[in-house]
Amino acid sequence: MQTNNFKSNYIYDLIIVGAGPIGIACALEAKKKGLTYLVIEKGTLVNSLYHYPSNMRFFSSSEKLEIDGIPFISKNPKPSKEEALEYYRRIATANKLFINLFEKVEKVTKANDIFTVNTSKKQYQAKNIVIATGFYDIPNYLNVKGENLPKVFHYYKNPHYFAGQQVIVVGASNSSVDAALEIYRKGGKVTMVIRGEAIGERVKYWVKPDIENRIAEGSIKAYYRAEITEIRTDEVDICIDKKISKTIANNFVLALTGYRPNFDFLQKLGIELLGTHKIPNYNPKTMETNVKGIYLAGVICGGLETHKWFIENSRVHAQTIISAIGNN
Ligand SMILES: Cc1cc2nc3c(=O)[nH]c(=O)nc-3n(C[C@H](O)[C@H](O)[C@H](O)COP(=O)(O)OP(=O)(O)OC[C@H]3O[C@@H](n4cnc5c(N)ncnc54)[C@H](O)[C@@H]3O)c2cc1C
Repeated sequence: MQTNNFKSNYIYDLIIVGAGPIGIACALEAKKKGLTYLVIEKGTLVNSLYHYPSNMRFFSSSEKLEIDGIPFISKNPKPSKEEALEYYRRIATANKLFINLFEKVEKVTKANDIFTVNTSKKQYQAKNIVIATGFYDIPNYLNVKGENLPKVFHYYKNPHYFAGQQVIVVGASNSSVDAALEIYRKGGKVTMVIRGEAIGERVKYWVKPDIENRIAEGSIKAYYRAEITEIRTDEVDICIDKKISKTIANNFVLALTGYRPNFDFLQKLGIELLGTHKIPNYNPKTMETNVKGIYLAGVICGGLETHKWFIENSRVHAQTIISAIGNN
């Protein structure tokens, strides 16, 4: 991983926004094909992964997380976050990829078929842009009174913090279930507030029986068809079946209700968002959007359908995009 010494008016073949697994895959492919590229990342390398829960394990096995066929060796059936950080960092450093970290892309404009990219630090020019910005930066908010209190979190890191505390976990997906089980096992008193009728169907098949049994035996309390209506310093109001109101004593709320892509950013680039799921308008054969020269890569492609794309099925975007750019 390194910075390059190109002059400020240099025109890159492509600029890749985001150094997640798929942005890195695009950089590797561009390098292989002899295209000049720069990756610009607003945080650390694989920033989303870095912010995942400390004890998380991927649901994919390591070979499904590999990019460019580079072996990802893990001694576990499902690799840990630390192993994934190690893997992607080694790829970036060993291949001396051009990646600028802690630099946010703020604006992209186009004139005479050349893009100007304004970042928090500088300005660059490129013939093509690849947007690989993922969906992990913007939480789906509950939009209830008290959500801005410091006791409410939309990201979960580590169970230790919640030992001996009364914690509400909102949601019934993988993130909520993992957090509920971990916190319960570190001595937190966990209540799950679940909008639907049951634990989510996509919850990892080896974890689902665990959470269902903890709920059945009463170790973790769960309210189904339930929503939070107000959060206060020491208690939370919930509503069940849209009619019964209940007040629960509470120290912390973990609202793990998913995340969404930065649609504002896409729209400012001129990318159309289609239908209720706000799917960005792109050609799946090339990954080029309705804006000529702007391509999409990775989980950003799914719009609000954030479960549609993951590393396993979107790593191929890199080859598709680079061959489309190479053919132009
Ligand atoms: C808890 C959890 C577990 C998961 N487990 C798996 C799994 O087992 N298998 C699997 O395949 N997938 C899994 N996923 C999904 C997986 O993380 C994503 O598929 C993967 O991160 C997508 O890679 P990406 O490169 O498209 O996006 P990301 O990894 O999200 O990368 C996007 C990058 O863009 C950067 N960025 C955003 N905006 C800007 C900007 N304006 N300027 C510069 N940089 C910007 C971000 O900081 C980030 O580093 C999981 C997700 C979560 C939340």
